[in-house]
Amino acid sequence: MRVQGTVQGVGFRPYVHRLAGELGLGGWVLNDEQGVLCLVEGLPEAVSAFLERLPGEAPPLARVTAVRAEQVPPTGRSGFEIRGSERGPGPAPPVTADAATCADCLAELWDPADRRFRYPFVNCTNCGPRFTIVTGVPYDRARTTMAGFEMCPRCREEYDDPADRRFHAQPNACWECGPRAWVQGTEGEAVAVAGALLREGAIVAVKGIGGYHLACLAGDEAAVGALRARKHREERPFALLARDLEAARTLVRLGPDESLLCGPVGAIVLAPRRADAPVAASVAPGSAELGVMLPYSPLHHLLAAEVGAPLVLTSGNRSDEPIAHEDADALERLAAIADAFLLHDRPIHTRVDDSVVRPGAILRRSRGMVPEPLALPVPATRPLLACGAELKSTFCLASEGRAWVGHHVGDLKNYETLRSFELGVEHFERLFAVRPELVAHDEHPDYLSTRYALGRVGVEPVAVQHHHAHLAACLAEHGETGPAVGAIFDGAGLGPDGTVWGGEILVGGLSGYERAGHLRPVPLPGGDRAVRQPWRMACAWLGETFGAAPALPAALAGAVERRDWAAVGELARSGLASPPTSSAGRLFDAVAALCGLRPEVTYEGQAAIELEAVCDPAERGAHPLPVAGGVLDARVLIEAVAADLAGGVPVAVVATRFHHGLADATVQACREAAVAAGTELAVLSGGAFQNRRLLERTQAGLVAAGLRVLVPRRLPPNDGGISFGQAAVVAAGGGTRPAG
Ligand code: ZN
Ligand code: ZN
Ligand code: FE
Repeated sequence: MRVQGTVQGVGFRPYVHRLAGELGLGGWVLNDEQGVLCLVEGLPEAVSAFLERLPGEAPPLARVTAVRAEQVPPTGRSGFEIRGSERGPGPAPPVTADAATCADCLAELWDPADRRFRYPFVNCTNCGPRFTIVTGVPYDRARTTMAGFEMCPRCREEYDDPADRRFHAQPNACWECGPRAWVQGTEGEAVAVAGALLREGAIVAVKGIGGYHLACLAGDEAAVGALRARKHREERPFALLARDLEAARTLVRLGPDESLLCGPVGAIVLAPRRADAPVAASVAPGSAELGVMLPYSPLHHLLAAEVGAPLVLTSGNRSDEPIAHEDADALERLAAIADAFLLHDRPIHTRVDDSVVRPGAILRRSRGMVPEPLALPVPATRPLLACGAELKSTFCLASEGRAWVGHHVGDLKNYETLRSFELGVEHFERLFAVRPELVAHDEHPDYLSTRYALGRVGVEPVAVQHHHAHLAACLAEHGETGPAVGAIFDGAGLGPDGTVWGGEILVGGLSGYERAGHLRPVPLPGGDRAVRQPWRMACAWLGETFGAAPALPAALAGAVERRDWAAVGELARSGLASPPTSSAGRLFDAVAALCGLRPEVTYEGQAAIELEAVCDPAERGAHPLPVAGGVLDARVLIEAVAADLAGGVPVAVVATRFHHGLADATVQACREAAVAAGTELAVLSGGAFQNRRLLERTQAGLVAAGLRVLVPRRLPPNDGGISFGQAAVVAAGGGTRPAG
């Protein structure tokens, strides 16, 4: 039989060996370029039992997508053997994602009688680093960053024994032979020293699985404040490390979704914060949620237990730079931030940030999820690379029916992130043996990703419109090709008419789309400055709504100079340096500013996040937002917002009515477009749909209208999903190729 899916490097062959032994079957099993190939021979009942149990009882990290069996004449063989890998010139075997420490390894970590008691690098076939340590293919120890550690006889014995949990566990190690941890410049036991420093209020850089983190006591205002100041990170929330589920429960309310915290991915989980969560105010100012993770490596388990209180654990970088992962670089870049360094000598080959999830959605797909492939509904007959957009950048390689979305690279705005992007692309091309013939890119000519795509030699470029890529990504991950109606709401993406899109009702599928509707455009006064200063959008929307130069609203009086307000009003009216935008993100900004919440922001999406956070769950009202000819005329909504605020309606109520009004209008626009196009399928995507109040009400309204609604589940709704959408479009023959 032929077994396909994620079946290599996950203990699948030993598993088959055990199962065959249990059922008294003879035969063999081997890895080849297509997955696992296996032959069993014995009594018919035993063979059928084997086939029945094979997919269901597979090891935790395996994912069986198909088993095809055929009968061959028996030869009377009895013993069962694991054969060496047979590799032809075909596609390379999959490299799997890094996996959080499994229960068996954890038991050994805390067992004083075990030879790996308190060993910071315990791992087995069911857990441990994978993608981050792989340097080449095929995946074996010599092509990982464990190459420099020679296994001791006992580790070697485990590694060679098909019946052992550590059979072919490439990073297998122990106190005798494996990596070590230490605190730079000290002699003591690493975890004890680092733990003591943290308890005293120090900021400690910790080398982990995918890079360096910065850690400090989450309950220590002085420590958290110092970390913010030194890292130049003003308000964006910090993630937290809780030692176990019980400790996590003191921070957030997760209820039935608690299982998100456990399991092999080990992501940061965003969840409603508890009012009495024992964390400093500056951990997540203005946020109704906290991001919490459990330890995902033995070193993190040891450290969290040693400290005994929640820690801030944030990427080891200065703002806007990629996470540090090389020792010399980290020691230099983090020297001004960290008081101490908890280091180890297992090199990190690929830097990978923590993944971020929320019940029902992935917000950042990275460590623990990458490089697991996704299926393309229309196979890529020519291998291709898709370069994504600019913010929350990822790339995607595709060949035939499979697409590999790369790790989160960050905002592609400087040399450091671009370099990280380029190295990632090269690494993936080698790992998965894909030589792109086509390269997909955003229509925006100034994105570094676009320039990279157009600078590649010997490939054919294909431009894919930003919001079409959002639509296609969601369709494709659900195995759909369209047509569908999509409400794609985000901050910005260039439209083919040269204006800034971002509140779009599209109708189409993978191979093409039409713009069926959109938010009424307003000027974006000062371009990018309007993104950092939501009060500019308040000014633009008021001007658009009331015509004459708008007066400075009371809620902004303390935050904005009258002179600046007048100048921006004038700028918007003149149209100079004020490209028109239909952005939904900027409408959120305008309303947040009018409510006096956020005249200025320090990170993307901040105003919208805080506007959602203040909503009053008891409020049922909705602001009016008429839809005519597909255009959502938000002037009427802005008028209602202004009237509410002037009438003393509480901000919590205004914010809620705004969300409801936008959701209801979106439902109406989608319904009308769906009827006109004769489709019953709807897609909701784009970064603005990370807003749950907007998403849930829109989704419910569309379902009530009889539409089937798809939302992103396996990829982020934000620009982290764009590269996969581009790949799906180009594979299906869509996008724009240069004329001639
Ligand atoms: Zn394990
Ligand atoms: Zn050893
Ligand atoms: Fe976008």
